[in-house]
Amino acid sequence: MAKVTFDIDRCKGCKHCVVACPKKIVVIREDVLNKNGYHPAGVLEMEKCIGCASCATMCPDCVITVER
Ligand code: SF4
Ligand code: SF4
Repeated sequence: MAKVTFDIDRCKGCKHCVVACPKKIVVIREDVLNKNGYHPAGVLEMEKCIGCASCATMCPDCVITVER
């Protein structure tokens, strides 16, 4: 199973990764605030991830790492 990790304190909540995910499993974590006051992105249903790395490719701030 692929593993997607987020360096959440670098995230600005821009949602580019949310839009890019073909499985629609990247979400903005409304329950979390990072150190800069943004709600960061995250994956809640990791078992559905296909490891395509579209999310990481789209992130302008290099927040996301995808391991296959
Ligand atoms: S690697 Fe692909 S399927 Fe997995 S969370 Fe990122 S965009 Fe979605
Ligand atoms: S694209 Fe990057 S900065 Fe934008 S919400 Fe996703 S992880 Fe955060």
